[in-house]
Amino acid sequence: MYLDYAATTPTDPRVLEVMLPYFTKSYGNASSMNSFGREAKEALEESRKRIADSMNAEAEELVFTGSATEANNLVLKGHAFREGRSRCHIAVSTIDHDCVLNSVKWLEEQGFRVTYLPVDSYGLLRVDSFRKALEEDITLVSVVYGNNEIGTVQQVEEIAKMCHEHGAFFHTDAVQSFGKFPIDVESMGIDSMTVNAHKMYGPKGVGALYISGNLKIAPLIHGGSHEFGMRAGTENISSIVGFAKAVELREKEMETEGKRLCRLRDRLIEAALEIDDAYLNGHPTMRLPNNVNLRFSHLEGEAVVLDLDAEGIAASSGSACSSTSLEPSHVLLAIGLRPEEARGSLRFSLGKQNSEEDIEFSARRLVDVVERLRRISPLTPKSTDRSPQLKH
Ligand SMILES: *Cc1c(COP(=O)(O)O)cnc(C)c1O
Repeated sequence: MYLDYAATTPTDPRVLEVMLPYFTKSYGNASSMNSFGREAKEALEESRKRIADSMNAEAEELVFTGSATEANNLVLKGHAFREGRSRCHIAVSTIDHDCVLNSVKWLEEQGFRVTYLPVDSYGLLRVDSFRKALEEDITLVSVVYGNNEIGTVQQVEEIAKMCHEHGAFFHTDAVQSFGKFPIDVESMGIDSMTVNAHKMYGPKGVGALYISGNLKIAPLIHGGSHEFGMRAGTENISSIVGFAKAVELREKEMETEGKRLCRLRDRLIEAALEIDDAYLNGHPTMRLPNNVNLRFSHLEGEAVVLDLDAEGIAASSGSACSSTSLEPSHVLLAIGLRPEEARGSLRFSLGKQNSEEDIEFSARRLVDVVERLRRISPLTPKSTDRSPQLKH
């Protein structure tokens, strides 16, 4: 049973079907003048239009990349290189994805100014410190739309508005939100936005950066004039076509599927919180429809994940990108958890193939696994010295 949809999703068979001809039949290079090339170019531009339309952007404002990681690198470093060290000042939330945080950390090492924006215990951007930071001459702000670990969804429109009042551009990593919420970049005031296909039942290895015409950046990859000169290299037509199909399907299914997932999510949360010393990480209501992030005192989240896996349930501790490192998650530390609390956390992320029965089954197994581990865990205190803790 797969409960790790925030790490990646299976490719929808309907997506795979539209991709296949671009490997063996319509394999032209979109830059070629011949009929093969024109066919590829047409597929490319149709896909671009379809994805741009879905977020109310212009087709010329969408640059295809090899991943969301690359799209975030492109806007952050592209902005820095274009503005230069004297003007550029980037502010990022402390719960942004590693690909954002490590990009700006690298920029900082190159002498660029970076400000880190704290969040509250739910993972919401702290408006007071944000307002204060904006009084400095910040040029670009990046705040993740829906957090991949704890699921907290930001008030994006408010944040964008505050940025614009202070003359800063607003970028958001919407990988977990695209296809789950309707997003209108125009009305929401989003200047640039990162998305990808593999978190929404499309293929891996393709992403896109929406970038408003007002926000000028330097390219990172030089070569031919592909992607409006913003990203050289022969376009991955089959994946781009698959991405567009995935977007089309999400548009149709987002509303009913979103409601269904919220019900399953809330059921799993409810069942899990009946366990002693169990807590929900992230915001109780302002959260992604498919995210459940839990914390259990006196346990290692990883041990729970491994035991669940042995029972056929695939959950995750931390984000997929950092779960192999021993460091506690930067997101859980940013919301104020102690390292041992962060290590006691795990994430279930739900998706299309999970039924109500799956969730009931997972909840029961989770109860058993936590009980069993606590019985044998050296971290479990004797019942007399267990100190009272606040639940939230
Ligand atoms: C998965 C993820 C990424 C990275 O996406 P890739 O396309 O795998 O590089 C970036 N940001 C968020 C919020 C994610 O969930």
